[in-house]
Amino acid sequence: MESELIARLRERIPPHPLLRIGPGDDAAVLRLAEVDECAMTVDLLTDHVDFELDRVDPRRVGRKALAVNLSDLAAMAARPLAGVVAVALPRVGGLELAIQLFEGMIPLAERFSLAIAGGDTNSWDGPLVISITLLGAVTARGPLLRSGAKPGDRILVTGAFGGSILGRHLDFEPRVDEALLLAERYELHAGIDASDGLSVDLNHLVEESGCGAVINLDAVPIADDARRLAERLDDGSTALDHALGDGEDFELILAAPPDAAARMLAEQPLGIPLGEVGQFIAEPGLWQTDRRHGRRKLTSRGWEHRFD
Ligand SMILES: [Mg+2]
Repeated sequence: MESELIARLRERIPPHPLLRIGPGDDAAVLRLAEVDECAMTVDLLTDHVDFELDRVDPRRVGRKALAVNLSDLAAMAARPLAGVVAVALPRVGGLELAIQLFEGMIPLAERFSLAIAGGDTNSWDGPLVISITLLGAVTARGPLLRSGAKPGDRILVTGAFGGSILGRHLDFEPRVDEALLLAERYELHAGIDASDGLSVDLNHLVEESGCGAVINLDAVPIADDARRLAERLDDGSTALDHALGDGEDFELILAAPPDAAARMLAEQPLGIPLGEVGQFIAEPGLWQTDRRHGRRKLTSRGWEHRFD
């Protein structure tokens, strides 16, 4: 099956200047003469955990598997270079499934000039598992880390949050171009992509930075999906709860010094909204404030993988 898949992929994947040797040999060979430092990231997605294959077009699954990785490169302000794809396929219909997964990935790879360098496929009696590893070029400004936020920095976010389960978790746009543009034009101290949820990922960032953060609840950009989900669930949760707690928004959460943040907000250079949702403080932990209440503890809610 693998040789047939490789033959199909060779037809489908255009030549890429980085690829001296692409899919089909024991390993790919990349030309990286221009690249000083590389960011490297891997993600693993499993049927019934990250998607429901019986309810979703496999092309969307393939696209998502690549997009979550691209989002991690965006979080580091790294430019996508090349990737390898590993899949464990169910025995029945595996080849067709693999081809559809790649069909979902290829347009996104092309959009970000990413070389699909190779991969590995297996079949087994379990569910579909797909894992992608990406390399990205760190720009001259250096990688954007989780650990650089300082008290007084503003918390900036792209887009809007919550309710991605209604479909956006499959079809989201990884904020690669946005991260590269912001990192090039403005001073950024830290960044992370919102995969686990706005509050959980902000918490990851403050823990790495050794500071805390106050979220202004009135300023959190709430996605229409969050409103729809709150209405539909009718479980007492609000749209704001979903914006703070739901996972897989894949927006950027950034720390920027006040003057740079003010410029970014005034200039709005992205073509998608860039908003300020609070600021970093010296006192550790996550805090919330709003029009009517002073500062109090925020309980961070969001998706975390659990081990039984
Ligand atoms: Mg991430």
